[in-house]
Amino acid sequence: MHDPVLVLNANFEPINVCNTRRAMGLILGGKADLVLNGRGFVHTIAASYPRPSIIRLEKMVHRPRMTVRLTKREVLRRDDYTCQYCGQRTSYLTIDHIIPRHLGGLHAWENLVAACSNCNHRKGGRTLEQAQMRLLRLPVIPPASAIYLFGRHLHENMDWLPFIEGW
Ligand SMILES: [Zn+2]
Repeated sequence: MHDPVLVLNANFEPINVCNTRRAMGLILGGKADLVLNGRGFVHTIAASYPRPSIIRLEKMVHRPRMTVRLTKREVLRRDDYTCQYCGQRTSYLTIDHIIPRHLGGLHAWENLVAACSNCNHRKGGRTLEQAQMRLLRLPVIPPASAIYLFGRHLHENMDWLPFIEGW
């Protein structure tokens, strides 16, 4: 019941991912329609219900343009799990403040990069110039496209792709 379910707005824009329990609650409560089953059925004593993979809200929900939340996990994902100093791709990455915080550097997308512990240690509390290090590429705010926002679920839910592409 914890499998992710893609939630579409009434206009088919993908807006959220919830778990199966919540999705079935929305369907049974008449707030959403099943768009794609693809996962068999949930059985109760009284009945069996299709197990949703994608649902669509009956009523249009108006919400501000989505943004990617600034978290360590999302910084690593934006940087493709690659140290932005030496190019090493590893699961043991830290987050480096390009301009260190004690020098006024912000905790912002443009000032944060994935760094392996060696590079982070080597750079220490210094700026790029002081440490004589350079970045592989300039960090940017990641695009808030549906593919980017929900892409991490895609490898297990390829049937979502046609509903995510283009938003
Ligand atoms: Zn490195």
